[in-house]
Amino acid sequence: MTQPTDSSLPFLPFVRPEIDEATIAGVADVLRSGWITTGPQNAAFEAALSEFCGGRPVRTFNSGTATLEIGLRIAGVGPGDEVITTPASWVATSNVILEVGATPVFVDIDPRTRNIDLERIEAAVTPRTKALIPVYLAGLPVDMDRLYEIARRHKLRVIEDAAQALGSTWHGERIGKLGDIVSFSFHPNKNLTSIEGGALVLNNEDEAVLAQKYRLQGITRSGLDGMDCDVLGGKYNLTDVAARVGLGQMPHLARFTALRKALARAYFAGFEGGAAVRLGVGLPVADFENSNWHMFQITLPLERLSISRGEFMEQLKARGIGSGVHYPAIHLFTLYRARGFKEGMFPHAERFGASTVTLPLFTQMTADDVARVCRAVNEICEACAK
Ligand SMILES: *Cc1c(COP(=O)(O)O)cnc(C)c1O
Repeated sequence: MTQPTDSSLPFLPFVRPEIDEATIAGVADVLRSGWITTGPQNAAFEAALSEFCGGRPVRTFNSGTATLEIGLRIAGVGPGDEVITTPASWVATSNVILEVGATPVFVDIDPRTRNIDLERIEAAVTPRTKALIPVYLAGLPVDMDRLYEIARRHKLRVIEDAAQALGSTWHGERIGKLGDIVSFSFHPNKNLTSIEGGALVLNNEDEAVLAQKYRLQGITRSGLDGMDCDVLGGKYNLTDVAARVGLGQMPHLARFTALRKALARAYFAGFEGGAAVRLGVGLPVADFENSNWHMFQITLPLERLSISRGEFMEQLKARGIGSGVHYPAIHLFTLYRARGFKEGMFPHAERFGASTVTLPLFTQMTADDVARVCRAVNEICEACAK
């Protein structure tokens, strides 16, 4: 055990949302207004998101998981269908496939980008394949031109799991502005939060109407007092309190993204030539064009260290630095093993899931904080090298 340095400094979590005073006051106004569930704030949040996404229809939901599940339902995915996705994601990505009665088909990641390897998708397509769910891990999009070329060729729907990619771009166009159905999450760890929440970007008004039905019990109102229920919907609407938080964050999104990019650059500078990289610590792709830098994830060269990942994270914590794991390979969870998945099937995702550590990255951090994290990572690696 090395002597912790910097432990007198305040604890640095790996993530912390930034919510301004105007938003906090705005939430109090909503609470006093007499209308606290889905209402005018939600409509304003949807309008702001729609404008952000080039005018496409947007509907909000109470989580990013709900948006994905309803995205699948709108795309007509159900029992008997296969959906191709990545095993390197939050388990929600594939749980929603099971939830609609379809079968998840995993395709390994490209170890460099940590995203689904587009070149392996076509080998996984069968006559039952109905849709693709790409994930833009840490905000780095896949090659969107190639993705949609594959989707078009095999007539597949795409439900983009862009939970982490609000503010990311492809060839200068925002994620959400292009493509088929796009799903965002506003969980507090994401670049923009509504406490909990999500949004679905849709292709046309018919899909938007269907999204609204799935969101609230399949209900359509008509005339002065008419009501019908013609699809089986659930209860996934976003409260106005949550919508007010999200709305209050929208004007800051460009600044948030710029700050995150600057912090990511500081990480690359801080690691350059250091012990960590020398020992084989893996860094993310240095993409400063497309990524919104939702996370800064390193991979540990565990075969060259005398400590486990958990112990590495403990040592960071002893230095006052929080970290996270995003994510263990989905197919190795018990629920998925029970469906026949096992070790060795997706080696890149398994290796990434077992060795990745998410370092602190949030808008209120400073370049000094980043330098402190880099120093700690270098010290721990050097002290624990085999
Ligand atoms: C956060 C996240 C989700 C789920 O979003 P929730 O709002 O937590 O339900 C899905 N996929 C990915 C990749 C995520 O990061």
